Amino acid sequence: MSDHDVIVIGGGQSGLAAAHALRSRGLRPVVLEAGPEPVGSWPHYYDSLTLFSPARFSAFPGVPFPGDPDRYPHRDEVIDYLRRYAATLDADIRTHHHVQSVTAIDGTYTVHTGHSTHTAPIVIAASGGFSLPHHPNLPGLDRFTGTVVHTADYRDPTAYTGQRVVIVGGGNSAIQIAVELADHAHTTIASRTPLRFANPTLLGKDLHWWTATTRLDILPIGPWLRTPPTTPISDKGAYKAAIAAGRPDRREMFTSLDDTTVTWADGTRETIDTLILATGYHPDVTYLQDLGALDATGAPRQRRGISHTCPGLGYVGLEWQTSFSSATLRGVTRDAHYVADHLIKQAQGAKTPASCCSARARA
Ligand SMILES: Cc1cc2nc3c(=O)[nH]c(=O)nc-3n(C[C@H](O)[C@H](O)[C@H](O)COP(=O)(O)OP(=O)(O)OC[C@H]3O[C@@H](n4cnc5c(N)ncnc54)[C@H](O)[C@@H]3O)c2cc1C
Repeated sequence: MSDHDVIVIGGGQSGLAAAHALRSRGLRPVVLEAGPEPVGSWPHYYDSLTLFSPARFSAFPGVPFPGDPDRYPHRDEVIDYLRRYAATLDADIRTHHHVQSVTAIDGTYTVHTGHSTHTAPIVIAASGGFSLPHHPNLPGLDRFTGTVVHTADYRDPTAYTGQRVVIVGGGNSAIQIAVELADHAHTTIASRTPLRFANPTLLGKDLHWWTATTRLDILPIGPWLRTPPTTPISDKGAYKAAIAAGRPDRREMFTSLDDTTVTWADGTRETIDTLILATGYHPDVTYLQDLGALDATGAPRQRRGISHTCPGLGYVGLEWQTSFSSATLRGVTRDAHYVADHLIKQAQGAKTPASCCSARARA
């Protein structure tokens, strides 16, 4: 006999979308959230973050984002939105529950936090596709004695006032941070390929309107992609103008780091204070390690959010889990419903839903 119908790990937008999908099917999930509130990682993103998606395309279906639907909301508005959304869900959300491991025996998953255990035939890992900062293998990084900061730990530009800063990356976060830093520090953005800009409006409509209207953003191509495509920088012209003005300047990726020095592609060397890595994230689901649910790189072995190896185990919120919008506020609910349907069918059809995993868990 299990304690819960379903255990959802993570109380961000993905966990809340999963809880909503499960409640709408009459199940009673428990959501285990490590932090103090069910608002995901948004409080930890940098202070100036504004969404790349307009308000009308940054909301759960049927729960509009308040205010002007065409503006790009600030990070803190998303936190408020999620807080209010969580309060409307009739779900058992337990904060300060950091899941450390999951085991499976005789058709039941047992989820262990530091201070409690919970059992259920179904587990949904919704702990975020962007939780583990990606640190690329840059030449000489191990010899670099300056400060290295990942954007996950970057808050605001004032800490870098007067410094020589190089920011590595070519995406929306890299440019957003580099441009605000340029007012406080001598800042260069270094990228392997030239920066790609895309005007977020076409014929008076935001690109999200076009991708939503043509349904491009829900095209289920995620499972077929070996490497997810990179998205261009969303820019109405301000970022391009900043680069043209050299605030920040953009350079081809450096060839090496050493001590406090960076060597640029043309051979010139320069002393820098801080290297900021805007180099992306990976999901962190190491708590599933013992189940045999992960591949050698620690990535979930899954298709469209359904585990290959562990019946009854699913995921919500992985990047490109199904489509471009999988790991976005607007798109996550669709995946949550798909995953809920599949896992419920698995649980109903199998006598021992978690039996595949149990042999390994016992070993
Ligand atoms: C810089 C940046 C900008 C973005 N901008 C946009 C945008 O403009 N529009 C958009 O739609 N999307 C955007 N996204 C993508 C996405 O919407 C966010 O990353 C969002 O936070 C993902 O929500 P999530 O619930 O999947 O994961 P998270 O927000 O990371 O939430 C996961 C939750 O799980 C909890 N957790 C983690 N591990 C455990 C554990 N072991 N036990 C218990 N709880 C755990 C965490 O505490 C967290 O609360 C952006 C992402 C980034 C990184």
